[in-house]
Amino acid sequence: MSKRIACVTLDIESDLLDKSGRIRMFDNTDLMGKYSSIVNNNNVKVTGFLVTSLIGKYSTEIGLLSRTIPIEFGVHSHSHERRLEYFANEVNSSVTAYEDFFGVKPIGYRAPNGLINRESIFSLIENQFKYDASIFPSIRLDEYGYSNLHLPNKPFRFVHSNDEIIELPAACLDTIRLVFSMSYVKFLGLELYKTLMRVFPLPDIVVIDSHPYDYYINRIAGNIQGWKRYAHLRNSEEAFSVFESVVALLQEKGYEFMFMSELYKYVADLPKLPTIPVEKLR
Ligand SMILES: [Zn+2]
Repeated sequence: MSKRIACVTLDIESDLLDKSGRIRMFDNTDLMGKYSSIVNNNNVKVTGFLVTSLIGKYSTEIGLLSRTIPIEFGVHSHSHERRLEYFANEVNSSVTAYEDFFGVKPIGYRAPNGLINRESIFSLIENQFKYDASIFPSIRLDEYGYSNLHLPNKPFRFVHSNDEIIELPAACLDTIRLVFSMSYVKFLGLELYKTLMRVFPLPDIVVIDSHPYDYYINRIAGNIQGWKRYAHLRNSEEAFSVFESVVALLQEKGYEFMFMSELYKYVADLPKLPTIPVEKLR
């Protein structure tokens, strides 16, 4: 059996639909403490994808988090702008802000809501990103809809003439391509996933998407309308224990926790990584 690797990723952005741009996990030591203790007690490694315009406001908390848990940082755009015509601007601003703060170039990028096209990949390559983590190899039916069912459910190389970037896609169950992220697991329940996994297992490499607000969505539910409000509120009181159960399940199944940079290095050295032309993206 090939090696099983799990990466817990945290998209560090303002709380869902919060106009004030707050991250309550950073404003509340109790929330931060609960999250950190689960991470530390289970030897989880976290990769935080930062909305870099928030670095100024939350520099103290980012520093504190770095000293509290094993965490490294990538980029989650500069201002969480989703419109693809602004993608290159977002990448440029985010690289500047990241370098100003950390003193090194970022190597990993995740686009807001997984929205990415060919030109977006070219801007990442131009800015010397080593990996992208924007692809959800699934189908999304809301206003940000996309279909990535034609892309692999495991790491691959995006290539265009002599250029390339490694893609580390978000985890989906085999065949049915159901996304395995904190918000989906809270919505559908881990028990349903466990049942489905008997027939449609998780891939050997699991990149789990999450957000700070996944852990306290009940505190901000007023911001959310319609079916999404219902979806987000399911299991919201138990969010931290759902996280613990997800971590325990991965450990039981023999997954080793890694940072995304470690996964990138592991994948880049694999002899037979699938190659996908960037033209496969719209
Ligand atoms: Zn986001």
